[in-house]
Amino acid sequence: MITESKLNATDAVIADTVLAGDYYMKVVKAGQTMRIVDLEGNQAADTLFYSAADPSERYSAMDTIREQGNVFLTTGTVLMSNECNPMLEIVADTCGRHDTLGGACATESNTVRYDLEKRCMHACRDSWMLAVAENENFGMTKRDITHNINFFMNVPVTADGGLTFADGISAPGKYVELKAAMDVIVLVSNCPQLNNPCNAYNPTPVEVLIWD
Ligand SMILES: [Zn+2]
Repeated sequence: MITESKLNATDAVIADTVLAGDYYMKVVKAGQTMRIVDLEGNQAADTLFYSAADPSERYSAMDTIREQGNVFLTTGTVLMSNECNPMLEIVADTCGRHDTLGGACATESNTVRYDLEKRCMHACRDSWMLAVAENENFGMTKRDITHNINFFMNVPVTADGGLTFADGISAPGKYVELKAAMDVIVLVSNCPQLNNPCNAYNPTPVEVLIWD
């Protein structure tokens, strides 16, 4: 559902630009609101969430889908943890659809989907591995990398249950906004994918804004 935010960008306490191929790893406190802006359109922000108090509690796609009875994420979706606690709620969304079924790109999936020669190309899973290695203070390892949300990505489910990666429905400046229900570690890989036509083979920056 398309819902505009009432928050002003000028009031944000944090505003960071994340280049394609970079990761973003920060704590968002309970009560704070975070916005991810698709600055140039049809970018994918592959995102994981963890409880800051105990990262073994993390975003769960299956608990979220079951609790809301729908596979698509948009305004009103409550992101649930693997312990079935609300982590964040989507409170504004000008894109209207986000995927949590397709998973993130990895060097392995690049070789299966595109070409054996793509194995050396940078993928979201690499960015997450680098993030947990460079931020030891969070106490996470590659075992903590699990299912994710692909903000701004359009992965429709066909009538007979098929999954398709479709052209993006996002556009420059579209955003999704989430209010935290607990202190969460946000880990975004701004997707570096160069083989998927959904981003016109042109990965672009996103912006992350946080309000108190
Ligand atoms: Zn990716």
